[in-house]
Amino acid sequence: MDIANLLFDINNIKDNKGLKIKGTCAASLFNKVLDKSYEVNEVFLDINFSAGSDSILAQGFIKGKISLICARCNEAFEYKPKESFTELYDYSQKSADIESLIASLLSISIPMKPLCSDDCKGICAICGTNLNTMNCECSYQNENAFVILKDLAI
Ligand SMILES: [Zn+2]
Ligand SMILES: [Zn+2]
Repeated sequence: MDIANLLFDINNIKDNKGLKIKGTCAASLFNKVLDKSYEVNEVFLDINFSAGSDSILAQGFIKGKISLICARCNEAFEYKPKESFTELYDYSQKSADIESLIASLLSISIPMKPLCSDDCKGICAICGTNLNTMNCECSYQNENAFVILKDLAI
């Protein structure tokens, strides 16, 4: 099921004594509100609204697929956050804004320094080679330069 609208009417849920939604959300819902430095490709949502005596309890989880740029090697990679949430909506509220809720969960989940892998080797500062895919000669020369500097310091 594709979910195009993530604003749920509180009275509707109350009248139906709850609501269960499971499906993939339109990525455009989040890309319009989130930072432009990354792109949401897909968000799967599983949410269960249950109607209590004075409020609605929303329990759910999301699985996302987001394109990020690695802070070390500058290559795009797919980041897959998984988050669960619990939220209460009072009957005096008009709607449950799950769109904003998911947008903030996604933006919180994104690391300050995204890495394509924990052991990403990054790019060579001298020749720009992506060291994950190729080796260059610079690292060897760097080591030598470091040794020379150390000798001078002594
Ligand atoms: Zn990387
Ligand atoms: Zn190099």
